Amino acid sequence: MDSGRAVTSKLPDVGTTIFTVMSQLAHETGAINLAQGFPSFEPPKGLTERIAWHLDHGANQYAPMTGIPALRRAIAEKTLRLQGREVDVETEITVCTGATEGLFSAIQAVVHAGDEVIVIDPAYDSYEPAVRLAGGITRHVPLRIADDGHDFELDLQRLEETLNTKTRLIILNFPHNPTGAILSAADLDGLADLLRGTDILLLSDEVYEHIVFDGAAHLSLLRHDELWERTLVVSSFGKTFHATGWKLGYCIAPQTLSTEFRKVHQFTTFSVSTPMQYGIADFLDSDPDFYLRLPAFYQEKRDQFCDLLEGSRFRLKPARSTFFQIMDYADISDADDLSLCKRWTQDIGVASIPLSVFCETPFTGSRLRFCFAKDDATLEEAARRLRSL
Ligand code: PMP
Ligand code: GLN
Repeated sequence: MDSGRAVTSKLPDVGTTIFTVMSQLAHETGAINLAQGFPSFEPPKGLTERIAWHLDHGANQYAPMTGIPALRRAIAEKTLRLQGREVDVETEITVCTGATEGLFSAIQAVVHAGDEVIVIDPAYDSYEPAVRLAGGITRHVPLRIADDGHDFELDLQRLEETLNTKTRLIILNFPHNPTGAILSAADLDGLADLLRGTDILLLSDEVYEHIVFDGAAHLSLLRHDELWERTLVVSSFGKTFHATGWKLGYCIAPQTLSTEFRKVHQFTTFSVSTPMQYGIADFLDSDPDFYLRLPAFYQEKRDQFCDLLEGSRFRLKPARSTFFQIMDYADISDADDLSLCKRWTQDIGVASIPLSVFCETPFTGSRLRFCFAKDDATLEEAARRLRSL
């Protein structure tokens, strides 16, 4: 019996996240878990060795609130190298507890009561609750489905129609989870045109920054001089180093925005695990090309998974980014995506994620998301089961 006192919930309609629900169901049923996004392989040895070394060599007390200088320097070097943006190591980079904390702190820092915040559907599930806790109101703008029926794209016209004088922030997430959509140079310019003369800020969730395929480049909002002035970019080492459990991320923003970000960050978490920061800084220095090899690494997995699904009744086009493959089951079932992904977890033993739960007005139809960050044997067995449908 729960003897706790009743409380007026600040998030009355919020339940357990779909990632936890599906992982639990996969666990209970013994299904292959292609639902929650996490790799089935380990971080690089050179990295874990450096972390272990620092654990044994005195890196066990509080780190500076903004992150250790060596890690901020390594992030600055990476940012200059890949996005051509020179950022100030002291004032414009903050290490945070995974992207989740970075996103939460950024939203609390800039959203005031009554402000409108635009999210792009399908929208990662942590954005809206954070906006509501800040007293903001979320407006949803769906991605557009391209003429090929597979790709998703930013819909600048719908975005423009939704902007108004109350709009304070737009939250973007490219490379996009779950659809794999990426931004083009024209999208960045179009966004700059839309926002010119306004005070609207941008929060860019770029946790899949290093996982973009087929020779495409990740165009960070950091690249664009006009957008950069109004942008907080949040990223995570979880995806880059096959270590989602480490919860290590960072926020890059111009000084004025970083100052506000840090005011919240220092009281959300204060500082981030010290030995992890030293270990990652060492590794980024000693193997600065590790993240450059990620696209090829994951593209091979994507291609393997898609090849294994040849002959299945799913419709799919290989993902353009991230480690998620969208598959359309219209030729197999007319059930809704949430019930179907639960049913298939139980019946065929493969768990996936429905897309409709990330949309205010579901528009993604009969599409499910499958994570292909898995070893060969797991992908082979999962594909065998999916082909049997
Ligand atoms: N944003 C997106 C789009 C994600 O997919 C994830 C997690 N996979 C996060 C944020 C959270 O990242 P972290 O685990 O570093 O908090
Ligand atoms: N971001 C991960 C995904 O998309 C899940 C993170 C979580 O479980 N909260 O699957």
